[in-house]
Amino acid sequence: MEIDADFHIHSKYSGGSSANMDLPIIAREAELKGLNLVGTGDALNIKWLGHIKENLREYNSGIYEIDKFSTKFIITTEVEDNRRVHHLILFPSISSAEDLRERIHRYSGDIDSDGRPHLNLNAEEIVDYVRDVNALIGPSHAFTPWTAIYKEYDSMRECYGDNLRYIKFLELGLSADTYMADRIPELQDLTFMSNSDAHSPWPHRLGREFNRISIRDLKFDEISSAIKHENGRKFVLNVGLNPREGKYHLTACSRCYIKFRLADAIRLRWTCPECNGRIKKGVMDRINELSAWKNPHHPWHRPRYMHIIPLAEIISLVTGISSLQSRRIEDRWNNLVRRFGTEINVLIDADISEIREIDMEVANIIDRLRRGRVRYIAGGGGKYGRPTLQQVDDNFWGVQRSLSEFQ
Ligand SMILES: [Zn+2]
Ligand SMILES: [Zn+2]
Repeated sequence: MEIDADFHIHSKYSGGSSANMDLPIIAREAELKGLNLVGTGDALNIKWLGHIKENLREYNSGIYEIDKFSTKFIITTEVEDNRRVHHLILFPSISSAEDLRERIHRYSGDIDSDGRPHLNLNAEEIVDYVRDVNALIGPSHAFTPWTAIYKEYDSMRECYGDNLRYIKFLELGLSADTYMADRIPELQDLTFMSNSDAHSPWPHRLGREFNRISIRDLKFDEISSAIKHENGRKFVLNVGLNPREGKYHLTACSRCYIKFRLADAIRLRWTCPECNGRIKKGVMDRINELSAWKNPHHPWHRPRYMHIIPLAEIISLVTGISSLQSRRIEDRWNNLVRRFGTEINVLIDADISEIREIDMEVANIIDRLRRGRVRYIAGGGGKYGRPTLQQVDDNFWGVQRSLSEFQ
């Protein structure tokens, strides 16, 4: 069987999260999106753990379900280590998460006030604790400039030490994809995850990135085998935004979002000449620094990475209506999802000619998307990029300003 899974979201108890991030709403929206499996997120937080135990019951070993909905759950959390590096953890059961919480809560001052606890432990120590409860761990959004492994280290080994051998996956984050990350030799054996890191449950956030996985049946051990690409279980497709849509794709000012070439940012000592804000190194420049190869080398187990745009954003693009909550966008979205069952079917699997019968304009964008023919204005510095119907000069992303303007 093949399932579509999003392993990284946050509950309403995480900073910046929507109050709608509770399990019945997440399950309802995930079902419309077409996700078969969603990570609970925040499983070390005592209130969220209580909500999980109240709402979920075991469906199959390590996989949970909620009344009325087809989408299943796996127990997950994100943690921050003592160098402010984020890691994603997948638990084999609710009790495994409770067990880890018991062992590490004394190293955290905010485990009950935030969904993503800061731990006064280094990454290598965290892996020891995670192994003790038979959970899996890997770096979250690995290339982003604030809270990720490669903002702090130049190699996986520097971060995880001898425990590197237990790391089996890496989350690419919204600003990177397989074609970028497979230029880095030390990542060849790892499974790449594409997850949404959603802070709200609506289908343009939840599952905006996900993984299609081939397994025998839906249980934790099968997911674990797929991550280790063992016994024919594997990830068969990564799906996500074009990296240019990510908030940290290009090097840019974190206050006014002007974009800079890497050499210029270095010359300016990472201070924006326009607003004095801090310039943050983009994921693309960071990957260029880390890469040994000019072109990606894909290992045998690496699936294709497919770029998508959330359906509401496609409708926004063709209508020019910017508010994704607007009634007209919702009506067109409902029209398509009612016909094809889920948003993922519309975006990836449904026949273009059948989509054309329902909505010609949207079908045309989906067709271009599937053939890699959509242009983007790249994000950077914390501002999302976006698709555009305009012609933009690809090499300069349409918006990069020359440094000479400031001299
Ligand atoms: Zn994070
Ligand atoms: Zn600035």
